[in-house]
Amino acid sequence: MATEPTPINNDTVLNVAQLLKEQVGGKRVYALTLDALPLDDPMMARDVTAQLKLTRIADGILVTGSLAGRTRLECVRCLEEFDTDFGGDVEAEFRPTIDIASGMLVEVDDDGESFEIDDNHCLDLAEMLRQVSILTLPIRPVCGDDCPGFTSEFRGGEEPPTEEAGDERLAVLEKLLDDSRGNS
Ligand SMILES: [Zn+2]
Repeated sequence: MATEPTPINNDTVLNVAQLLKEQVGGKRVYALTLDALPLDDPMMARDVTAQLKLTRIADGILVTGSLAGRTRLECVRCLEEFDTDFGGDVEAEFRPTIDIASGMLVEVDDDGESFEIDDNHCLDLAEMLRQVSILTLPIRPVCGDDCPGFTSEFRGGEEPPTEEAGDERLAVLEKLLDDSRGNS
């Protein structure tokens, strides 16, 4: 059996009919490249590559491997956009909706953790790759060590006015308390 990965460019749909007919343990390897992969609107990954192994398992097909790409994120501190590389491991199960041997509908046990192989025996890697990519991205992205930080308007020795505002609110509260005590 050939072990050279099959290259796939700018496509995420694979027909797995032949692999589904094989015994458990049957394998295919793919080298996937995508110019663009939509993540969360308007976030877009670019230059995505994935090395993927598809293995026939009892329930369907297990996809394992790794992926890497590049995307643009907004820094949580300075709010500037910056480019960042991402990458991570892939492990996902795809389950058939039609039994390959009988052509009968398969009762899909929807556990929310597996993806579907459609009734043409095709699986679409896009949603799985999107989810894996998002999981590898930082929850609170920071543009870098030289990030100018939160808003720059309070720099230069000036203290942010938050404490003062807090004192004012506290003063109002204290006055209200004094008033209510005075009335009782
Ligand atoms: Zn920043």
